[in-house]
Amino acid sequence: MSYAFEPAPIPSVRVTSGSLFPVRRIYCVGRNYAEHAREMGSDPVREQPFFFSKPADAVVASGAVLPYPARTANLHHEVELVVAIGRGGRDIPASEVDGGHVFGYAVGVDLTRRDLQAAAKAKGQPWDMAKGFDRSAPVSAIMPVSQSGTMSKGKIELRVNGELRQTGDIADMIWRIPEIVHELSTLVKLAPGDLIFTGTPAGVGPVVSGDRLEASVEGLDPLVVTIG
Ligand code: MN
Repeated sequence: MSYAFEPAPIPSVRVTSGSLFPVRRIYCVGRNYAEHAREMGSDPVREQPFFFSKPADAVVASGAVLPYPARTANLHHEVELVVAIGRGGRDIPASEVDGGHVFGYAVGVDLTRRDLQAAAKAKGQPWDMAKGFDRSAPVSAIMPVSQSGTMSKGKIELRVNGELRQTGDIADMIWRIPEIVHELSTLVKLAPGDLIFTGTPAGVGPVVSGDRLEASVEGLDPLVVTIG
């Protein structure tokens, strides 16, 4: 049986070594740094991490110019460490995550239509349209774990037009990467090609047309995008 029409191309992210990482799914962790939870009006708690997702084709490469998205007047930046899954599984024990499940790491920005998110929160509605819109997931080139080593600390920063807006350390995550991968794998079966945005440190704020965003995590390729 043939397809009724040509399938959409497989979304991908560049790997620093030169190949392409085919993206299957994008998951994101909410409120994973205490200071950010507080700035969003929540108490930082270690009950259970919660997840939301973005469509795989929301990925955008570093260097892109992103049109200012529709239906928002409050587009926010959230710099995040992104974990690329190379070996999947179900109920992956946290102790085994660094034993081969991580393909590599990248820097991402979880672009958020904050006004739509606030409206959704107020009505108890889902966040999909606040978080999972077109081009909402800029990601830098993925550095293979063989090059970066297992990442558990390092400065994470975001600058807008050269001005420092967000700064933190990935060591300050409430949920560490092995715990995040474990928890997520008890909810869904993970597979090679999955990307996990691991949450943002404090300092989120709005961007406007013409802004240049530079996101970095110590040791990884930086991410630069411009809002058109
Ligand atoms: Mn986020």
